[in-house]
Amino acid sequence: MRYFVNDSCIGCGMCAGTCPEIFSMTDEGVAKAKDGDVPAELEDSALRACEECPVGAIEEV
Ligand code: SF4
Repeated sequence: MRYFVNDSCIGCGMCAGTCPEIFSMTDEGVAKAKDGDVPAELEDSALRACEECPVGAIEEV
């Protein structure tokens, strides 16, 4: 499982707070997901961030 942040991101920072191992904020003020598969131990928190994004900007790819 891996994630992608699309152009809908409004930069609220929630995902980076919920799962900082996978999501971080760029200098442009939007989120990005780490490249590569999410390690098994981080799947729950990464999924929570995906589900709780207020604008649905996090896609599973
Ligand atoms: S939770 Fe959604 S809107 Fe907020 S920073 Fe993350 S991707 Fe962007």
